[in-house]
Amino acid sequence: MIELRDISRIFHVGGQEVKAMDRISLTIHAGEYVSIMGPSGSGKSTLLNTLGLLDTPDSGQYLLEGQDVTALSDARLAEMRGRKIGFIFQFFHLIPRLTAQENIELPLLLSGVNRKDRAKRSLPLLDAFGLAARRHHRPDELSGGQRQRVAIARAVINRPAMLLADEPTGNLDRHSSAEIIELLEQLNHDGLTLIIVTHDPEIGERAGRRIRVVDGTIAADSFR
Ligand code: ADP
Ligand code: MG
Repeated sequence: MIELRDISRIFHVGGQEVKAMDRISLTIHAGEYVSIMGPSGSGKSTLLNTLGLLDTPDSGQYLLEGQDVTALSDARLAEMRGRKIGFIFQFFHLIPRLTAQENIELPLLLSGVNRKDRAKRSLPLLDAFGLAARRHHRPDELSGGQRQRVAIARAVINRPAMLLADEPTGNLDRHSSAEIIELLEQLNHDGLTLIIVTHDPEIGERAGRRIRVVDGTIAADSFR
């Protein structure tokens, strides 16, 4: 499903070259559960953003479902991202003035789905994610765990093939973290490819495949 061939990403900061990804090659199959760990600044987010078509490598090839995406226009990339990829982040990235339901429906709104059909898709998700009673609440009226559940629902409402999570529990207490990881694992169990960047070894260890990134390279890649 995902194939990176010799991918590099170089940033220039104050006259210095930073190799955020240094000739990374990697294959990930549909349905896998992968964790990415490694020191701060090692390139984990750059790798995840590249997989999610949010960042473009400077060299190398990225084949997504067999298609070379390194050559695509920004418009085509955005279209592919919207159709195939869900993203969640440490700080949720919800829209503050929208309710939980409106946040979840946003991707549908942006692709022109009408109100009734949006609700037909969001209400079952609100239910399944334990948010039904909170659907008219704005993010600042929700707990961290609830906000992340809204963000996950928004990420999966377009039924993507893969879900990419960058430190999804980094801003949550232990109990909410466990809840969020269980929800993500349930989605993976139902067929979604799941890739999680985490600092937390306990969370990283749960994945069927664990990748360790050091200095922009893959230092270890172990399967259960
Ligand atoms: P991690 O997520 O593992 O902490 P990142 O992928 O965010 O690491 O960053 C890897 C390296 O690339 C770091 O040295 C970081 O400072 C640098 N970097 C990342 N994004 C940028 C950017 N937009 N501009 C300049 N340097 C960047
Ligand atoms: Mg990061």
